[in-house]
Amino acid sequence: MAAAARVIDGKAVAGELRARVAARAAALPFRPGLRVVRLGDDPASGVYVRNKDRAALAAGFDSATLHLPADTSEAALLDRIAEFNADGEVDGILVQLPLPPQIRQEAVVDAIEPLKDVDGFHPVNAGLLATRQPSLVPCTPKGVMHLLREAGVTLSGARALVLGRSQIVGRPMLQLLLDADCTVTVAHSRSRDLAAECRRADILVAAVGRPEMVRGDWIAPGAAVIDVGINRLPDRRLVGDVAFAEAVGHAGAITPVPGGVGPMTIACLLENTLDAALRRRGVQG
Ligand code: NAP
Repeated sequence: MAAAARVIDGKAVAGELRARVAARAAALPFRPGLRVVRLGDDPASGVYVRNKDRAALAAGFDSATLHLPADTSEAALLDRIAEFNADGEVDGILVQLPLPPQIRQEAVVDAIEPLKDVDGFHPVNAGLLATRQPSLVPCTPKGVMHLLREAGVTLSGARALVLGRSQIVGRPMLQLLLDADCTVTVAHSRSRDLAAECRRADILVAAVGRPEMVRGDWIAPGAAVIDVGINRLPDRRLVGDVAFAEAVGHAGAITPVPGGVGPMTIACLLENTLDAALRRRGVQG
């Protein structure tokens, strides 16, 4: 059996990135402003929003959460977004997903001023990324790239497989890996023989939302495995899309769940908010 994979410590890498962002923010003559909007009382969303708010405050940002009732109308939410768009002190706006059924996600994403779209979901930012222009890049795939670089993974010429083609993870992940000179394949629920696709990959990014779907023997010896999945099992355990205990005997490097990609998503949100503030206010930093 191959030596056990190096476990990539997402918490530590995220901590360093957060410290760098905080140091850059401390040198500015203003506090970057972040507004997070939460609708309803979904407990998981509550935890995500609280973590984002705390991290932003710890980085020295002016952060606040707007908590609206679950029965808020789409028009009322769009009005609040318009207020944040117009507010010169607000640099980043994030609406926590998922949204209640009466609100169209597309309408909300489209309503956020692209320069303040720190989630990077607006079609303008997606288009800028696709055409290799400066943009606000979705936080999770951006965090994956940080992790690969910090782990010293060779990107240029590597075969990368992205499992999942969502707008928020899989698709931007494809763009970022391609821009880093990887040879990228994207697989999804209609792909044939996923195991064979995985075995060809030097870099495997799993973002499907299926607990431990990727088995150890799907992984090429020495591959870098980044597990984006967050799945809650009936026994309350949190697991990724990769069967970690098996994979660790095959991979060269692997992220755990929790403690891998998750902390990077928040750190990249802070980085995006700082970048948005500098760009919008025309400040170097
Ligand atoms: P999503 O929108 O549900 O997309 C899932 C993707 O996986 C789709 O492209 C789907 O294919 C594909 N898929 C589903 N079942 C599959 C199967 N059996 N075989 C192959 N492909 C399959 O999910 P997402 O928003 O991208 O999130 C993916 C996972 O990442 C979730 O566990 C989510 O909780 C986690 N996540 C974590 C973070 C973080 O901060 N760590 C951030 C975002 C998401 P089709 O397109 O064909 O349907």
